[in-house]
Amino acid sequence: MIYYPIKKIIITLFVFFSTAVYANDHDHDNSEHKQHEPHVHGKAEMNILIDEKTFIFELNSPTLNFLGFEHEPETNEEKETLKQVNKMLLDYKNVISIPGMNCKESQIEISAPYGNDKEEHGHHHGEDHDDDHSEYYLFYSITCEDINNIEQIKIKLFDNFRGFESVNVKWTYFTDAGSLEATEKQKIVKLQ
Ligand SMILES: [Zn+2]
Repeated sequence: MIYYPIKKIIITLFVFFSTAVYANDHDHDNSEHKQHEPHVHGKAEMNILIDEKTFIFELNSPTLNFLGFEHEPETNEEKETLKQVNKMLLDYKNVISIPGMNCKESQIEISAPYGNDKEEHGHHHGEDHDDDHSEYYLFYSITCEDINNIEQIKIKLFDNFRGFESVNVKWTYFTDAGSLEATEKQKIVKLQ
């Protein structure tokens, strides 16, 4: 079961389909939220997978980390913040950067909790006490010219959004794998 109801809209930008992995991974029911850590404000989880043909990463984060609030936007300021954040997330470089590499998005998916989706609004799943919480789920597939020589990835969430304290990054780079609790002070994920 999920931890709380998630109201979301889907903003999808398809440039092209690059991997078969993606197709298996994404039907938008609750399954993608099953296995991740409980919702803790300030914290988030990122998974990065890089191999010969693929560079994908995903992020699960409480909405609060992005917006500074976690309810349907009410004031003009909150509505504007939501708009700005969703726009920024369409550029993967606001989430991570790959120093020295020439990369571009091939596919982006943003599952955002609030918006104009009247049908989703007010829909409940039965576990009512945590009703206030919501999350973002982000998925990016990018292509890089020199995927064999990526040395590090910089987590940009601390610079660009207001509420990130730590991001639990798990990565796989070809046959290597590792993890890092990234923070404002330690935002470089070293792959080599
Ligand atoms: Zn919350």
